[in-house]
Amino acid sequence: MMILELDRKSRIPLYLQVVTQVREMISRGALKVGDRLPANRELAETLGVNRTTVSNAYAELEADGLITSHVGRGTFVSAVPKSRAPAAPVVASPIVWDSLLADQTGDIWLSPLLHAQQRKETISLAWGLPQAEMFPLDEFRRCVDRVLRRDGRNLLQLGMSSGYEPLRQSLSSQLSASGIDAKPAELLITNGCQQSLDLMRRVFVGPGDEVVLENPTYPGALSIFCGAGSKFISVPVTDKGMDLDTLEDVLSRRRPKLIYTVPTYQNPTGTTLDMLARHRLLGLAIKHRVPIIEDDIYSELRYDGPTLPSLKALDDHGVVISIGSFSKVGFPGLRVGWIVAPREVIDHLNVAKQHCDLHASLLTQAAVYEFSRHGLLQKHIKRVRRAYRQQRDAMLQALEKHFPAEAKWTRPAGGMAVWVTLPGMLNADEVLVHAAENGVIFSPGSHFYSTAPKMNMMRLCFTMASPPLIEEGIKRLGAVIKARMTTRKQPRALRKSEGYRALV
Ligand code: PMP
Repeated sequence: MMILELDRKSRIPLYLQVVTQVREMISRGALKVGDRLPANRELAETLGVNRTTVSNAYAELEADGLITSHVGRGTFVSAVPKSRAPAAPVVASPIVWDSLLADQTGDIWLSPLLHAQQRKETISLAWGLPQAEMFPLDEFRRCVDRVLRRDGRNLLQLGMSSGYEPLRQSLSSQLSASGIDAKPAELLITNGCQQSLDLMRRVFVGPGDEVVLENPTYPGALSIFCGAGSKFISVPVTDKGMDLDTLEDVLSRRRPKLIYTVPTYQNPTGTTLDMLARHRLLGLAIKHRVPIIEDDIYSELRYDGPTLPSLKALDDHGVVISIGSFSKVGFPGLRVGWIVAPREVIDHLNVAKQHCDLHASLLTQAAVYEFSRHGLLQKHIKRVRRAYRQQRDAMLQALEKHFPAEAKWTRPAGGMAVWVTLPGMLNADEVLVHAAENGVIFSPGSHFYSTAPKMNMMRLCFTMASPPLIEEGIKRLGAVIKARMTTRKQPRALRKSEGYRALV
């Protein structure tokens, strides 16, 4: 019996799939010279395909001399493919990789960022990253030296997936100072918040499951939760953070697996949930038994306004899973972050972590632990905060001075960016093309939406440029925006190479 398996999602035509498989069966001897092949109609019925698909396949095999049809008698294998002969070179058609993809890769959302940054003279208001000059290189180098000398033989060996124990202990006591009671066993060290989100998806989100996302939100979360298999429910963000009326309505009708939120200095809007709203959100999660993933990555970057307890610190019911990392306070390239969750959840996340990459680099964890143990991290955070506050103020002043009166923007109390609303007729994706020609780049707001993107929004990060460069960048941007408002040119379509995808 001839068993063929056709992949209807593949881009390879069905008849060619039949040809390849029959040829392969003859090659490996599963079909021998003289064996009879099923009749056209019979094979078409078995495979659930059109008869012409089978006729085309047989015609191709016959043209290759591998089968012969005899009217009235049937179709028979007549030869073995020549490629089996040892001397003949095998001319294989190239693999069509696209046809093999499991459809889970989604869009590339990060690397164009790194390319766009290459032009040195461009002022970047696009990325939520520190200026390279901010890195405390000498102090960090001394920490790396010290841990290598003290513990190098262990640090270069394979370790536990839960993380470097001294770092877990130190994080546990730092978290307790901010009101979070997390024993080391309730902590998992990851390669940053991005991986924490991915682990969470692996553990909790099955095919067809829904996850609540703020709209707009961090594009890295979109890339994880809007991928194939999972579905998302978008809840709008108001100027006070996630719209809890909409969330309440959603939770009364649907059963999402998780609620993902950045309640403090949200990316991209910079909004913060106030105390009342935090309690309300927790109440909703508890009532509907839907865990919250609290992305707390920005809370240390506070410039003014009250210090609010995290959702995790307010959580008496164990409904919040909190994620954090060292990326925003200083070192995005280190790739060290953590998850705080109930012990049983950590156990599952640990397994997922092992499946992904066994564990985060011990050397990096030990170095950042050493950096923090000597009070250098706190010192660095103070320095970064001071600088970013000045940069934020420089941006707000420049916006007043150079942007048209019709534009509006937020005044974030922390975080890394100002969220700007342009007059409705302007499209920020197009403004970016002209801005880049004038040596300044930013993140168009459309990249942060899971649905119904608002085209006139822009995220302006103030962390990567000094105050004078911020002023210059905003001045150039203001000029581009004003010119587009007055000329009201017909928008020209973006060439592919001109689009910049977001963004951290
Ligand atoms: N969450 C948010 C809200 C972010 O803005 C970012 C990075 N910009 C991340 C997570 C990713 O952080 P990490 O570098 O720790 O993976």
